[in-house]
Amino acid sequence: MHITLAELEVHRVTASESYTPGALDYRGAEFHQTAPLGLIVNAELLGREIRVRGRLETRLGASCGRCLAPVEIPVSRDFDLMYRPMASITQAEEEIEIPTEELEVGFYSGDGIELADVATEQVILSVPMKVICGPECRGLCPVCGANRNLRQCNCAPPVQDSPFASLKEE
Ligand SMILES: [Zn+2]
Ligand SMILES: [Zn+2]
Repeated sequence: MHITLAELEVHRVTASESYTPGALDYRGAEFHQTAPLGLIVNAELLGREIRVRGRLETRLGASCGRCLAPVEIPVSRDFDLMYRPMASITQAEEEIEIPTEELEVGFYSGDGIELADVATEQVILSVPMKVICGPECRGLCPVCGANRNLRQCNCAPPVQDSPFASLKEE
């Protein structure tokens, strides 16, 4: 769904949308959507900036970064975003300041914003850099590949040849 400047000039827009798994393109992210994504937003025009507040909920599936077990990631995210016209970057570069408050700032081009893009970006931002099945995950043995959460192998630790290996030992 597209929210246009023309519409926002008349009134605020409240919209809700649902995206089935596969509808949004997460650009090669290492997770996939496993349940419909529900999105509700309220958009208003402030000068030439579009403020978008809302909430989304979905579920994602990924692999544990240590043991490769499937991990389910429930996503429930509130957001408060400010979109500036893309043209403002080149027109008044010196006026662009990253605000110190928590408001996230993005840019829109053309005649408005696309809700699918908002949803995609918010989902990507909600996923931790490193997904693990749990803080206690012991990962795979680097020698034999055994899942050390399931069984204890008797492999000797691999020889550390990294220049930082001695630091890690401390
Ligand atoms: Zn794990
Ligand atoms: Zn092993």
